[in-house]
Amino acid sequence: MNLNVNTAINHIRLKKLYKLLNQINNYSEEMKQLTDSQLQQKTLDFKQRLNSKQNTLDDLLPEAYAVIREASQRVLGMYHKDVQVLGAIVMHQGNISEMQTGEGKTLTATMPLYLNALSGNSVFLITTNDYLAKRDYLEMKPLYEWLGLTASLGFIENPQGPISNQEKQALYNHDIIYTTNGNLGFDYLIDNLADTKESKFLPELYFGIIDEVDSIILDAAQTPLVISGAPRVQSNLFEIVKAFVATLEEDKDFKMKKTKREIWLTEEGIEKANTYFNVPNIYGGPYLDLVRNINLSLRAKYLFDINLDYIVMDGEIMLIDRITGRMLPGTKMQAGLNQALEAKENLDISDDMSVMATITFQNLFMQFQRFSGMTATGKLAEKEFFDLYSKIVIQIPTSRPVIREDLADRVFVNEDIKNDAILEEVINYHKEQRPVLLITRTAEAAEYFSTELFSRHIPNNLLIAQNVAREAQMIAEAGQLSAVTVATSMAGRGTDIKLSKDVHALGGLTVLINEHMENSRVDRQLRGRAGRQGDPGKSQIFISLDDYLVQRWSDSKLKDNPTLMKQDTDYLSDSPTFNNKIKRIVKKAQRISEEEGMKAREAANEFEKSISTQRQLIYSERNRILESEHLDTLDYDSIARDVFNHHFKNYKNKNITENDITKYIYKNLSFSFNKDDFEIHNHDYEAIIELLISQFNHQLMLNKNKINDEELFQQFLRKSVLKAIDSAWIEQVDYLQQLKSNVNQRQKGQRNSIFEYHKVALDSFKQMEDIIKHRIIRNLCLSIIDQQKNNDLTIHFP
Ligand code: ADP
Ligand code: MG
Repeated sequence: MNLNVNTAINHIRLKKLYKLLNQINNYSEEMKQLTDSQLQQKTLDFKQRLNSKQNTLDDLLPEAYAVIREASQRVLGMYHKDVQVLGAIVMHQGNISEMQTGEGKTLTATMPLYLNALSGNSVFLITTNDYLAKRDYLEMKPLYEWLGLTASLGFIENPQGPISNQEKQALYNHDIIYTTNGNLGFDYLIDNLADTKESKFLPELYFGIIDEVDSIILDAAQTPLVISGAPRVQSNLFEIVKAFVATLEEDKDFKMKKTKREIWLTEEGIEKANTYFNVPNIYGGPYLDLVRNINLSLRAKYLFDINLDYIVMDGEIMLIDRITGRMLPGTKMQAGLNQALEAKENLDISDDMSVMATITFQNLFMQFQRFSGMTATGKLAEKEFFDLYSKIVIQIPTSRPVIREDLADRVFVNEDIKNDAILEEVINYHKEQRPVLLITRTAEAAEYFSTELFSRHIPNNLLIAQNVAREAQMIAEAGQLSAVTVATSMAGRGTDIKLSKDVHALGGLTVLINEHMENSRVDRQLRGRAGRQGDPGKSQIFISLDDYLVQRWSDSKLKDNPTLMKQDTDYLSDSPTFNNKIKRIVKKAQRISEEEGMKAREAANEFEKSISTQRQLIYSERNRILESEHLDTLDYDSIARDVFNHHFKNYKNKNITENDITKYIYKNLSFSFNKDDFEIHNHDYEAIIELLISQFNHQLMLNKNKINDEELFQQFLRKSVLKAIDSAWIEQVDYLQQLKSNVNQRQKGQRNSIFEYHKVALDSFKQMEDIIKHRIIRNLCLSIIDQQKNNDLTIHFP
């Protein structure tokens, strides 16, 4: 894209914002003149004007922003700068504000949060971790409360045991809620498992602001949130299949595209499998589990590398975050892949848990009526934001010019030479007492540099993304005289690095980065650790042919060139041609990495569409049932008729025997059916259906009489229907999850596999509807009801 065009477009967008800014500034004097109580009164005025429909939120924006700006001056001693007001307008409009590190995004967000909370709906500020959510909440809460609104932290820190829905209601029953994407996502799933209206706790998702929006909805979005259910029935095929896969030859029996994470059997491979397992065709229906296991085993063996994608620790597979190189304790690959990796590494096979409820972050945020975001690095992801959410990114000017120097990459032939140069650089800065922040991709590298520096008598702080609170404190000190801080890319994020006076004079903070990260957005974010609010500072990245990006994404054969590699490294290091070559290789590898990341997210989104449409339907049906006072509105007769017809339709022209009917009734309608009381017309299909319907009504009436209380009977109906929906939906979610990985592996063309997935997903949804109806009827008839003293029902479902 053309840089100038971008700048021009941004300029036009900003111009409109400046008009609104002027209006807000015009209110400044007036607000200053108000007494505290007059200013506080404004909140009530605004609410009243909204309630009477005299004004919309958009109408109120200039005045409301001016009010909170003045209040902030009085309560927090901070007056929103003009550029912050610009960012705040963008966010009310549901777009993304790009504001550099240190520009004060936390304060900026108070404006749109205040404005939107005036509507009476709860509004959310969503950030990446508990520590940041709490920090920002505590800092801004006095402002909201002064203005007559309530604010809360949307989760309990380090809870001792499960949190009840009542406790959650207390957390969420506020005007402004600070929380994290993880907390909100899990609560969204839990809230949609509630079986009474009273136990729901999440407010309507009306308006939300996502801090560090690119890292939450792009980088963290790969792994969906999952609530696990019961362990799945374990396949015992892993070992046998592993032995088979060991006999296969690449290109002959299977093909793969490693960078795309695709691998598939050729015709020859399929033939081999048929022979090996002695089946007519492994792709035939009954062998689905076998095919699934072969694919899992192939993937585990060829697409996942030990030490790059995972390590083995204490007899378990520990996954490694591809972006940060950090270990991911507690996360497991879904749908059997973890087990296949365990088999590959000869570990004990662990339980594969079924998936009970799941959602991706992308979809979570789509549940909001409106959301917006802020980040220092949005522009580079604008296309994705637009494609995904139709959001534009507006670059807000910094309040002072950025004078940080982003130096050109320094190039090295291999890692050893590079690491020595990095250490030397740190030592040189340290000699002059200038602070250095050395950022590494992996925790291992950070530990290495920290140890090396200590052995050279350079004290340093090591931050490897373990304890956010302590790290925030440590990184805040990274701008002091002689400070040396070694950190992984995630450590201490969101914390402002202020410089001491002497450091300012010495040229500020220097950020050194040991290799390029998986995408240039992260690089930029890391450089931005220095040079905040017009501070002096420097940043520099070091590269070599051993870098992760090159190993993972490059197909360059440079390293394998024996003549070249025999050359004296000093000679190579001094050769500009060679250096340029390395630069190009690294750059290209990063580009591929970015593209692959984007494609993977795109595919994940495509796959997500089926499940999210279905989830939408189910959740809204559930809510309708929870909300309705009387479930008599459901036409049980016609549900029953559908169920009976569905079951007996294949019998239609055949003989339905008396035995068939009594068996069906015992299994589905009544334990105490006495067939002598009824006359069964063997051949009259319609009469049989009528008989079943009357039997159903009879049974329902018995239950109604037994409960003998209208309200409790409604409760019984509601719970029976919900139970039917939930049990079928939970199975469906798990099925879709497994289907996804199966289909994904079955075909090489992505388009095809997505198409096939949606088709099968839709069919299975229709089947699920039949299952739900069937279970509703069974639940209504066969449940055992315990009436409790506290006017509550305990129902034992069949
Ligand atoms: P960001 O999230 O954009 O990196 P922060 O929200 O952490 O920045 O703010 C950085 C620092 O600037 C904080 O110490 C904050 O208190 C301060 N700050 C923000 N806005 C103002 C303001 N208008 N006046 C004074 N200080 C401010
Ligand atoms: Mg911040």
